[in-house]
Amino acid sequence: MNIETKCLHAGYTPKNTEPRVVPIVQSTTYVYDSTDDVAAVFDDPTISLIYSRFENPTVMAVEKKIAALEGGVGAMCTSSGQAASLLSLLNILKAGDSFISTTAIYGGTINLFAVTLPRMGIECIFVSPDATEEELNATFKPNTRAVFGETIANPALTVFDIEKFAKAAHAHGVPLIVDNTFPTPILCRPIEFGADIVTHSTSKYMDGHAVQVGGVIVDSGNFDWTNGKFPEFTEPDESYHGTIYTKAYGKAAYIVKARMQLMRDFGCYPSAQSAFYLNLGLETLAVRMKQYCENAMTVARFLEAHEKVESVNYPGLESNPYHELAKKYLPLGCSGVISFVIKGGRSAAVRFMDSLKLASNEVHVADIRTCVLHPASATHRQLTDEQLVAAGINGGMVRFSVGLESIDDILEDLKAGLAAV
Ligand SMILES: *Cc1c(COP(=O)(O)O)cnc(C)c1O
Repeated sequence: MNIETKCLHAGYTPKNTEPRVVPIVQSTTYVYDSTDDVAAVFDDPTISLIYSRFENPTVMAVEKKIAALEGGVGAMCTSSGQAASLLSLLNILKAGDSFISTTAIYGGTINLFAVTLPRMGIECIFVSPDATEEELNATFKPNTRAVFGETIANPALTVFDIEKFAKAAHAHGVPLIVDNTFPTPILCRPIEFGADIVTHSTSKYMDGHAVQVGGVIVDSGNFDWTNGKFPEFTEPDESYHGTIYTKAYGKAAYIVKARMQLMRDFGCYPSAQSAFYLNLGLETLAVRMKQYCENAMTVARFLEAHEKVESVNYPGLESNPYHELAKKYLPLGCSGVISFVIKGGRSAAVRFMDSLKLASNEVHVADIRTCVLHPASATHRQLTDEQLVAAGINGGMVRFSVGLESIDDILEDLKAGLAAV
């Protein structure tokens, strides 16, 4: 199946007389014929369902669809994108370990990496997304066990050189985790460029309609956990009566461990109802992503030519420093988020935003409706000036998430907003 078809059909194939649409299985529990059947499920939790804290048929249909879209061997949904980032790392790291992340990542992820994980004894070593291969290689420590980056950073909009980071990670025997929220698998599939694990905030384009918060972790199945650096995959898990994940689950060791160990213990699994909404969004993902790219490109060109705009950041523009990487990793388009700096700094940006009629002020991006945000006073409010600069944010910067309204109406709104500055 091509990806447009997978959006509609992967993950759920109804049999004779079964519902056409993925059913909402709103049940915490599942029944068994005998205690022996229950025992068998506890011996191998992948043969049947146990409990909706970590397994549910509606959610699992969506997990299969997303795994198919990204080209992975399995996926696990989480109750938020933050939970996906957290569990993707905790499945590999423990107190005393370190991992490497680029500085160009989502503000919430920066808090998690710079403040909360260190409290748990896990160190994040930050590197520039533009680090050379030599600089990258010099960053690894003996206890470094993963590398993390965002395909298109929110909101810096830098394009992550997946192959470069994958090469460095693999040279040091550790996996590369890529947050692919902004492109979605329609515009980029990081696994094809060497990523081992892919995460998403499904709250953004995948859901697309701003109706539910969620996340997902996808396992490529490609990483060799038996290379000697990851005993928790190759030695018996005492919390799961001695299961050796690489032996029992082969290529799916990572994602089965994430579910049976971490989801069991942390319990941040989405509800069947949330998964149902997410699935509706995924069904139209391919169509929507192409239209977002087209509208965003038109808006970016309009802003670039406008006298009141100091600079426009959109990797689809030829003038953008990440344009070459965008051509390589995002040949179909650079998704729907643009950031730009209005002449006159912070106050001009605020005046512009408050003059918009169609675009709404939202702490969100990737909505089907056009929305706008001032990162310095919202999502990135907690960052120091130094961290703001490292994350690529200017006080006069506006983050503009282009929606699927008529492009003429979006441009009218922008013209009126800029006229008010
Ligand atoms: C929003 C976002 C997250 C966090 O996801 P939530 O669903 O809000 O928890 C992580 N990464 C990126 C790139 C995001 O845009």
